[in-house]
Amino acid sequence: MKVRVDNIPKDGLRFSFSGQEDVLSQIMEKFPAVSGVKIDPLIHGDIQLLQTTDGIVLNGSIRTTLNLQCSRCLATFDIDKDLDLNFLVRQVDFDGTTDKDAWDSQDSEIVVGSEIDLGEIIVQELLLEVPMKPLCREDCPGLCPRCGALRGSDDCDCPLEVSVDPRWEQLTNLVKK
Ligand SMILES: [Zn+2]
Ligand SMILES: [Zn+2]
Repeated sequence: MKVRVDNIPKDGLRFSFSGQEDVLSQIMEKFPAVSGVKIDPLIHGDIQLLQTTDGIVLNGSIRTTLNLQCSRCLATFDIDKDLDLNFLVRQVDFDGTTDKDAWDSQDSEIVVGSEIDLGEIIVQELLLEVPMKPLCREDCPGLCPRCGALRGSDDCDCPLEVSVDPRWEQLTNLVKK
C-alpha cells in the first residue's frame, strides 16, 4: 500500500480499511520475524494524508488483532489492538537508499523518499506495541519447571513450591534490569 508523495492532492487522500483486504502480509515478510508475534493482515479503520502548511500529515486509527505467545506458558492468544497514527511526513531525497534507512527515530515524524508505505508504517507501529513479555493473562501461572505442564492444571501433580507473589515478581524484574 504505497502512496507516491507527488500524487497526494491538495485536499488530501483518505484510505478506509474494512477488514476485507490483505493490507499487511506482504509487508510483514520484509520484517525480521519477531518470535511469537503474528499480526492479522486484515485491518479496520481509516488513514488520511492531509496537506497542511507544515507539510503532509498522516492521521488515522486502525484496529487489528495481534496473535502473541505467552512468555510464561507459551500458549498463543489474541489481543485486539487499536492503533492511533499521527505523524508529520518529511520527505527526503535518499538517492536510492533502501527503505530501512527511511525510518527516522523521532516519534512524531516519518521520513520518506518519494513514497509513503502505509503498510510498513502500520506494521512498524504495531510491533512497537508488542510487550516485551506478553502474558495470556496477568496471573498466568506458567509452566511447571518439573513436569512441563501448566502449573496447577490437572496435568501437573507436582507439590507446590514456594512461589513469588506475582506482584513482587514485577518488582524483582525491575531490579534485575
Ligand atoms: Zn500464559
Ligand atoms: Zn508439574
